Amino acid sequence: MTTAKEYIQASFEAIKARNPHETEFLQAVEELFNTLEPVFEAHPEYITENILARIVEPERVISFRVPWTDKDGKVQVNRGSRVQFNSAVGPYKGGLRFHPTVNQSILKFLGFEQIFKNVLTGLPIGGGKGGSDFDPKGKTDAEVMRFCQSFMTELQKYIGPSLDVPAGDIGVGGREIGYMFGQYKRLRQFDAGVLTGKPLGFGGSLIRPEATGYGLVYFANEILKANDKSFQDQTVLISGSGNVAQFAVQKATELGAKVISVSDSNGYVIDETGIDFDLLVDVKEKRRARLTEYAAEKETAQYFEGSVWNYQGHVDIALPCATQNEIDGEKAERLVKNGAYLVAEGANMPSNLDAINVYKANDVLYGLAKAANAGGVAVSALEMSQNSQRLSWTSEEVDSRLKDIMANIFATAKETAEKYDLGKDYLAGANIAAFEKIAGAMIAQGLV
Ligand code: GLU
Repeated sequence: MTTAKEYIQASFEAIKARNPHETEFLQAVEELFNTLEPVFEAHPEYITENILARIVEPERVISFRVPWTDKDGKVQVNRGSRVQFNSAVGPYKGGLRFHPTVNQSILKFLGFEQIFKNVLTGLPIGGGKGGSDFDPKGKTDAEVMRFCQSFMTELQKYIGPSLDVPAGDIGVGGREIGYMFGQYKRLRQFDAGVLTGKPLGFGGSLIRPEATGYGLVYFANEILKANDKSFQDQTVLISGSGNVAQFAVQKATELGAKVISVSDSNGYVIDETGIDFDLLVDVKEKRRARLTEYAAEKETAQYFEGSVWNYQGHVDIALPCATQNEIDGEKAERLVKNGAYLVAEGANMPSNLDAINVYKANDVLYGLAKAANAGGVAVSALEMSQNSQRLSWTSEEVDSRLKDIMANIFATAKETAEKYDLGKDYLAGANIAAFEKIAGAMIAQGLV
C-alpha cells in the first residue's frame, strides 16, 4: 500500500514534470504539500480519490489579447488571463494583478493560494486569479482607462456574479475597477456583484480598501494575544506602500505599535518616530509619487536604496506587505538576529521556503499569507452579500464582521494545529483545515 508520504512525494514529482517552468506555482504547491502528511494519514480515502492530482489542476485557464492605444496613438498589446482554479465551495473569486511580472506561473500560484485562503474565511467563495503584464506605472488616466476597457471587453465573456467575481490586487485599485465596471455595464448590464473593490456609490463596500491591512493586524493581534503579548510599544517593520501596507500602518499604530518603515520597488523609508499615515496616503494615492517624496518632506525620515529586509536595527514584528518572495533565508536570518519574534504576511507568499524554515527553526510565530491576508477577500465576499441584498452596511458593521472572521481563521488554524499535535505551527494548522474543506467538498461532488 502507498503511504501518505510516498503519495505526496510522487504527486509532487508528477506536478513538477508537468509544469517544469512554473517556479512560483511549484513553490506554493510544495509549501502546502509539506504540511499535508498528517491529513493523508487520517484520510486514506484522499489517496484513492487521487485528490492531489485534481486539486493542482485549474478547472480552466483563459488567455486573451488586450490591444490598446497609448497617449501617442501607438498600438500596444498585452496579454490578459484568468485562472478559474477551483469552484468546489463557490464561484471563482480573486483579484486581478496588473504588473509587468505577471505570467502563468504567478497567476497559478496566486489562484492556488486563493482557493485555501477563501475557504478559510468561512464564506462561500471558490478560488481564481487573473491579470495582465500591463504596467500601470507612469501611464495617464486615459491610457489606464483604454487598457481596462479593452481588458474587460474580453474578460466579460467569462465572468458573472455567480460564476467568477474578480477584484483588485497589485496595480488594480478603485480606479481600475471603476473603469472595468463601466465597460462591463456597457456590454452586459448593471450587475453590481460582478466585481468587488468597487468605489463607493455604485455597490462598493465600506472598509473594503482597509480590509487586507486591517485584517492582517487583527490576525497578528490574535497570534499575539494567544502568546500573552500585544502590539503595544512593539517596533514593527512593514514592507510595501500600497493599499495593504498603508492600512496595516494605520491599524498597527492605532494598537500602540511603532511602525518604522514602508518600502517601494526602489528602496525604503525608515522613520524612527513612526510612519505618518496621512503623509503616506497623500504621497502614494493623491500624488501617485515615490517614497522619496515622503522622505523629503518628513524630517525624521531617511530613505535607503534596496530591500527593507536589509535593515540592521531592532525589530519585534515584521509585516511583509509588498510582493512574493521578498524574504529569503538570509533575510529571515537577519530578522531573527535583530529580534523579530512574529512574522505575519499581508502580501501573497512573501516568504520563500528557506525563510519559512528559518522561522520554524527559531520558533518565530508565523502568520502565513493564506490566513493573515484573507481580510481583503473576506470583505469582498461581504460586498457580494450587500450587492445581492441591494443594501450597504455601515463601516462599524463591516469592520466588526471582519474582526470576527480574522479571529475565526486564527482559532481554526490554532485548533487544527493542536488537533494534529503540531504545537504552534499555524501554517500547518491553516493549510490542513483549508485542505480538508476543499477536498471534502470535491469528493462529495463526485469526480470533479
Ligand atoms: N487580491 C486580494 C487577495 O489576494 C483580494 C481578492 C478579492 O478581493 O477577491 O486576496
